[in-house]
Amino acid sequence: MPDRVLPPRVSESRLRSALRQFESIVGKDHVFTEALDRSTYADKFAIDDNQHVPLGALAPATVEEIQAIVRVAGESRIPLWPISRGKNLGYGGSAPHLSGSMVLDLSRMKKIEVDEENGTVLLEPGVGFYDLYDHLQSRGVKLWLSVPGNSWGSVAGNALDRGAGYTSYGEHASKICGLEVVLPDGDLVRTGMGALTGSRSWQLYRYGYGPCWDQLFCQSNFGIVTKLGLWLMPEPESVMGLDLEFDKQEDLGPLIDALGPLRREGLLQQSPTIGNWLRAAAVLTTRDQWTDKPGALPDSVIDAIRKRFGVGWWGVSLRLYGREGVNRESLAILEKAMNDIGPLSLKRTSWRRGEPLEQTGWVGVPLTYPMQNANWHGGRGGHIGFSPVLPQSGKLAMEQFRRTYRRYQEFGMDYQASFAIGERHMLNINAILFNKDDPEMMKRIDPFMRTLIDDAKANGYGEYRTHLDYMDTVAETYDFNNHALLRLNQRVKDALDPAGIIAPGKSGVWPATYRKERKA
Ligand code: ADP
Repeated sequence: MPDRVLPPRVSESRLRSALRQFESIVGKDHVFTEALDRSTYADKFAIDDNQHVPLGALAPATVEEIQAIVRVAGESRIPLWPISRGKNLGYGGSAPHLSGSMVLDLSRMKKIEVDEENGTVLLEPGVGFYDLYDHLQSRGVKLWLSVPGNSWGSVAGNALDRGAGYTSYGEHASKICGLEVVLPDGDLVRTGMGALTGSRSWQLYRYGYGPCWDQLFCQSNFGIVTKLGLWLMPEPESVMGLDLEFDKQEDLGPLIDALGPLRREGLLQQSPTIGNWLRAAAVLTTRDQWTDKPGALPDSVIDAIRKRFGVGWWGVSLRLYGREGVNRESLAILEKAMNDIGPLSLKRTSWRRGEPLEQTGWVGVPLTYPMQNANWHGGRGGHIGFSPVLPQSGKLAMEQFRRTYRRYQEFGMDYQASFAIGERHMLNINAILFNKDDPEMMKRIDPFMRTLIDDAKANGYGEYRTHLDYMDTVAETYDFNNHALLRLNQRVKDALDPAGIIAPGKSGVWPATYRKERKA
């Protein structure tokens, strides 16, 4: 564990006095400043354990406590890094961008208010996917979640960081409807219809009156979200779909060109994720079971993996949610479109209301087993993601795939990628799996990531989300008119947070007070 780091320009005595005030607000038991606490809140998947070192953590239980903390932090210049459950693995986990920041751990705040009739929930940041799932199941509420591949985290934190799930409600940030937020000066605001005292439609109409702020608190450091409204999917009558495998690398292009129009038209309402052969192998086996050679896996091993798991170069699952008759018609259209490309295998799936649910993300059941892939190389495993946003074009996707796959081979890394087709865009999410106990491998990760980001930028692509280490680099790529967007974000940041205490550096947005640290 690295040494304790103080926040910039904060003396020991100022810190001691702030800690005493924090203790009086949340109680001694909820202020964590021991070495073990610092390691608990560190990034478990860090490429460099000496970066992003938390000073400790505070765990408030109420909005009033958060307001009081923010005021003390502002006066004492102690930066706070809010997390909901802090399981943002691959993007920094619970660790802050700026070393010496106090993590503001909101996982004790776990209230859930469901409106079954309207298909909405209002929840506090500490509510995990498992908490909400159990809440709905135990009460027989006929609403489904959309869960991410690692459902260990919180519903709010995931939506605020623009996480994605498997159902037609899988673009989580787009399902946010109404927030309650503590601003950096301690003021409390409700967005949208929640701004009206006694409002009956806070979770029903996203925009409210005048400028709409919900999305300004996503991937942002403008405030601390204390309640988040979210739309949930009414339990459908039926779920039908296809599980498909495709044999060749070149099948990716036609597959995207077939699925894109169906997605844009709305026949397909979830975001199908096309993934390569490593997905199953990295979860169910470890690399040493396949080879003892370093460098990217050769074709002979790829063939062996494909044979053992019965998978193609690419696989995709498609799902339809809703009325049975409608699904049946849509499925026939999907099946024809897929057969026209010539899949290696095609399997139909079907679920009808009343039948037991499979334990999969397709039906909103939380899951954590995909995280097993961090163990692929053995040792202290981890991963980070490289995730540019692309148009839904088979040609551009093939170019992106070829370019990126070559880079994986050049840097000697095993290729794990997916192409997730959204309503108009496509996310190309590439996982870089590593072993922190392999120093030679760890040396390659940073130049590899930077090369991928540069390649993307050179082709007109930017990333949708990134690890703490690359937040500034990615922000730099959004450079139209001398970084006008970054400058706008910073102007808003400085107006709302003149002391610069909320999550300095999040998404590359630094308050004036710490812009020097950014340069460093
Ligand atoms: P999860 O609980 O799903 O693991 P995190 O708590 O790690 O998610 O949150 C992901 C990121 O989203 C955090 O690093 C932080 O930047 C932001 N975030 C999470 N919760 C809040 C919140 N309540 N208010 C403001 N930002 C938040």
